[in-house]
Amino acid sequence: LASRLKDKTLLKTRCYIGGKWVGEDARQIDVQDPATGDVIAQVPSLGAAETRAAIESANTAQKAWAARPAKDRSVILRRWFDLMMQNQDDLAAILTAEQGKPLAEAKGEIAYAAAFIEFYAEEAKRVYGSIVPAPASDRRIVVLKQPVGVCAAITPWNFPAAMITRKAAPALASGCAMVVKPATMTPLSAFALAELAERAGLPAGLLSIVTGKAGEIGGELTSSALVRKVTFTGSTEIGKDLMRQSASTVKKISLELGGNAPFLVFDDADIDAAVEGAVASKYRNTGQTCICTNRFLVQAGVYDEFVRKLAEKVATLKVGSGFEEGVAQGPLIEMAAVEKVEEHVADAVAGGAKILTGGKRHAKGGTFFEPTVIAGMKRGMKAAQEETFGPLAPVFRFDTEEEAIEMANDTPFGLASYFYTRDIGRVWRVAEALECGLVGVNAGLISTELAPFGGFKESGVGREGGPWGMEEFLEVKYVAMAGL
Ligand code: ADP
Repeated sequence: LASRLKDKTLLKTRCYIGGKWVGEDARQIDVQDPATGDVIAQVPSLGAAETRAAIESANTAQKAWAARPAKDRSVILRRWFDLMMQNQDDLAAILTAEQGKPLAEAKGEIAYAAAFIEFYAEEAKRVYGSIVPAPASDRRIVVLKQPVGVCAAITPWNFPAAMITRKAAPALASGCAMVVKPATMTPLSAFALAELAERAGLPAGLLSIVTGKAGEIGGELTSSALVRKVTFTGSTEIGKDLMRQSASTVKKISLELGGNAPFLVFDDADIDAAVEGAVASKYRNTGQTCICTNRFLVQAGVYDEFVRKLAEKVATLKVGSGFEEGVAQGPLIEMAAVEKVEEHVADAVAGGAKILTGGKRHAKGGTFFEPTVIAGMKRGMKAAQEETFGPLAPVFRFDTEEEAIEMANDTPFGLASYFYTRDIGRVWRVAEALECGLVGVNAGLISTELAPFGGFKESGVGREGGPWGMEEFLEVKYVAMAGL
């Protein structure tokens, strides 16, 4: 991996705690390239004691940070953004090596990740309070916004860079400090980001990165009285655990959890555009994003055409290492992910659905899986109810708009959904009826740092991105002034 980098010092393999690179003597965890299974680095397995040290240094650093003019914080964050963009190629190579996504997608993720820092560097200067007309003439109502304090972030492997910056940037911009526990499979991107934050002049202690035993680190982060907020992206199961654990100290909490995104195609849709959006939404990151389409619901009049064109397009997606030219589909992150896709395929086939393309492990071996389209799906099937998190597009048929909405909402999740139609009345009706936090209308790619990202129902709590993301790291204080 080092040989791919222009700046080899970005390849850090120690934890970053209180401004120091530590953990050399600890037990080490292998980091593997999912495309080859090769061990590309070893990182420390730290636990509760080191997490406590990170929290304590965050607590000290945060007070001085919050007291600085917002413009100071803004300047440092802006420098961090610039450094990320200057090192985009190296950061992308590190990301592809540990996560597997095609290099072009990794570059895209770095730009997307950096965009959160750029946005919140600007937003830092705009944390406005308010003055509210008071009920008596000798009184004033003043509303202040203040940083919540020390925050903890627990992040997943599918976006090793962006899931950190979209939490850390608004936290730091608002005057908070943050301790990050990145996913054990993808720690190198996190360390590289910390290295660049240090170069940008971020004071020690404000951003620590701790890798190791998830339960122990998570336990310390959720039970510490010094930590005032926990922000998590990952599985619904772990999110519920963290919510429970955070209850004893009543922390503020943001959760971005699983989804079961429907993608509706109506009879009046532009089918070619729908197919293009479908591929973008489903196969990005080899189907491993929480807003990837999980179910395609297609109206009877265009069902055959859509399914045929989708399968044709999907069959052309090149599978391979993210470093190979022209590859659109990298490996899945681990064998358990392959097994889940296989289980969903087998369950669908057993129930009478039909594989149109793909359907099995790829000839390349490892964790490569053929991009798959299955038609004739029925509602009770596993792929209808669970998040597949892999390159499987299951297609269901519907007749009426009401039926489509009912099917789309028939899940405990509510993160993203997509629909294609050219009827303006239907655009409004369906967008309003879908029970989820993000809706793509005639669009399969909708993530941006400018818009609120988050879920309804069991998909989560809170929003990331835009001014909404900033509010998550701010307390509101009402100051009643009397006797004026
Ligand atoms: P996924 O791996 O599918 O993204 P997980 O919820 O398993 O989702 O993991 C997301 C993050 O949560 C990772 O950083 C993981 O190490 C961490 N994690 C897993 N188990 C726990 C736990 N018990 N407490 C705290 N964090 C955890």
